[in-house]
Amino acid sequence: MSETPNNLAMQRLTPALSLAAIAALACFALAPSSFAQQTPAPAAAPAPAKSATPPEKPLPGLDLSSMDLSADPCADMYRYACGNFNANHPIPADQADVDPFYVLFNVSTQQLNDILTKAAVPSPARSPDEQKIGDYFSACTNTSAIDAAGLKPIQPLLDEIAALGNTQNHPGFFHNLFHLFRHKSARAQVNRAQLADLIGKLQRINVNAFFSYGEQQDFKDATKQIAFIQQGGLGLPEKDYYLRTGDKDAQIRAQYVAHVAKMLTLAGSSPAQAQRDAANIMTLETALAKASLGVVDMRDPEKTYHLQPVATLTASLPGFDLTAFQDAIHSPHVTEINNATPGFWPELTNQLNTTDIATLQAYLRYQLLTTVARSLPHALDAEDFDFYGRILHGQPEERARWKRCSGFVNTALGEALGKVYVDQYFAGDSKARMVEMVRDIESAMGRDIDQIDWMSPATKLRAREKLAAVANKIGYPDKWRDYSKLAIAPNDALGNQMRADAFENDRQLNKIGKPVDHAEWEMTPPTINAYYDDSMNDINFPAGILQPPFYDRTQDDAVNYGHIGAVIGHELTHGFDDEGRKFDAHGNLDNWWTPEDLKNFTARTDCLADEYSSFTAVDDVHVNGRLTLGENTADNGGLLLAFMAYMQRAKDDHIDLAARRDGFTGPQRFYIAFAQNWCQNTRPEQVRSQVLENPHSPDRFRVNGVIVNQPGFAPAFGCKPNAPMAPAKSCRIW
Ligand SMILES: [Zn+2]
Repeated sequence: MSETPNNLAMQRLTPALSLAAIAALACFALAPSSFAQQTPAPAAAPAPAKSATPPEKPLPGLDLSSMDLSADPCADMYRYACGNFNANHPIPADQADVDPFYVLFNVSTQQLNDILTKAAVPSPARSPDEQKIGDYFSACTNTSAIDAAGLKPIQPLLDEIAALGNTQNHPGFFHNLFHLFRHKSARAQVNRAQLADLIGKLQRINVNAFFSYGEQQDFKDATKQIAFIQQGGLGLPEKDYYLRTGDKDAQIRAQYVAHVAKMLTLAGSSPAQAQRDAANIMTLETALAKASLGVVDMRDPEKTYHLQPVATLTASLPGFDLTAFQDAIHSPHVTEINNATPGFWPELTNQLNTTDIATLQAYLRYQLLTTVARSLPHALDAEDFDFYGRILHGQPEERARWKRCSGFVNTALGEALGKVYVDQYFAGDSKARMVEMVRDIESAMGRDIDQIDWMSPATKLRAREKLAAVANKIGYPDKWRDYSKLAIAPNDALGNQMRADAFENDRQLNKIGKPVDHAEWEMTPPTINAYYDDSMNDINFPAGILQPPFYDRTQDDAVNYGHIGAVIGHELTHGFDDEGRKFDAHGNLDNWWTPEDLKNFTARTDCLADEYSSFTAVDDVHVNGRLTLGENTADNGGLLLAFMAYMQRAKDDHIDLAARRDGFTGPQRFYIAFAQNWCQNTRPEQVRSQVLENPHSPDRFRVNGVIVNQPGFAPAFGCKPNAPMAPAKSCRIW
């Protein structure tokens, strides 16, 4: 399945990212962050293309041109800080939205393109890493070679899918008996070991076949790396797409069925057969969706942690040959496993037993085609974009091939590309400044914990202990990943994609049973995003986000604390949001709260959930206050901590807060800079899909939804009591 640039790079327990580690990751932005996970569509650029658009510039730390000074900040801070953003930033046809992340992403894409076009020129002087990133890029942009290869590179897998119902491997007498018997039931029987083996092979190259399987840190013992298995197999983004009522949802389902039929037709089925298969696939996926947990439950580590002996799992998957599957996906034969979604297996077993073989085959064929669509001939790539990009996200046109390919290289070989990127484009001084700001914000959190009046000394002690244990990772890894065992060829886009995915999957599964590597990163250095990891208890800021407007060395502390300071505060607060608070200093799921403190905490999170649920995002679709609770908690706490840290820094450095720059005082600049993290021009389809499936609130609510809860805001702008941005009743957790 393809993902648009606006999907989240790192989301916890996302079936679509089935082979990525399942860790309790929470990240900062929805934005193009997802560098990582871009994909499909048209654009048949010839050979390695040069950048066709003029170079873009990142936005400045304080962007006066985006502000609407006619607006009253006390009435609508988003409009005041971002009111002119849309007029100045129309959404390009190849984007679903535009915001400061996307503007910077486009700059980075140019930089990566420069690195990659150079590396793509064959030369014995290239380092092994340069050969790999260059050849991957070169093959990816060579669409005529991709068109010429057709389906050939996946033909062996298509053949295996086609052979699923064959019984030739039941020889002699039994073979004949089997046939006689089967004739009566008028339906061929799937060969069980063959099916499990095939699902394993497909999942190893990221095909979302029926469920997902991977490696995670044990939630209750973060020193251990274990296997997990969980629900999956859906072609639509999440379960409610199959079940919600309403015209828009019915329309999307009809468009999905038409899309599946089109893909199958393009891959050689007759249109009539493809129509029947697509309708049957919809029935199969709807049954799986009904047995799946929803997006809110999937955020809850207590609901997705059931460590058990493998025998317990296999008992709930009767007839499924787990050993054959594990061999095919290159997993060790573990003795215990996190069965993340126990309620899913009875229905999966039922479907595997009762769905006719032609439907199972068509389903696997479709899942394979959509996974590799970007490396398939143009018609398939374009059809994949048409559904996942245009229909689901409202993006009229696919991005140019060279732009997409730089994202694919970043996904496949992110640390090989990242090493060159950091050498060429990462200003080292931003790292030193970041270290200092992180320290400021961590000590602000310490003071905040000391000051809050709703928590007992015993729980405060544990919170302090957790805060002290947070590890800070800034810029890029100390030790770069070794890709020497991954073969990349200059003219084999599809082979490269499949080998790189298998390589990464093997790397993940190889961790099972081994000690945890605390130096590992879950995001690549060029990524414009940040994350907190519950099991690692660390905050991570890739080089990509340490640039304007998020960090701008030409700006003062007010602006930088408002931008990147709020990002740091956000990640740190994730360790103490509704999910993070369940993990202790060592990254273990462990209740360190007294019942009374937990009651107080929950009352405060309920306040925030209710506040955000009252926001209408698009048409009649409301923000889901429960789905976005962790992110909203992080936004609110993060800004509060950043402001505390800024005020302390100003005091220590004798900065005159009242002194004006660009016409604004220090605190005003702080809040304007913060708000401008989230200026956004978005297509309605994009807002809809974000609200339904993503844990981040739409950007404008990430401004006003937070500002109303900030005690420092009204004094900074002289807001009267009960002004819309200074309500009498507000929510406060941290
Ligand atoms: Zn976050």
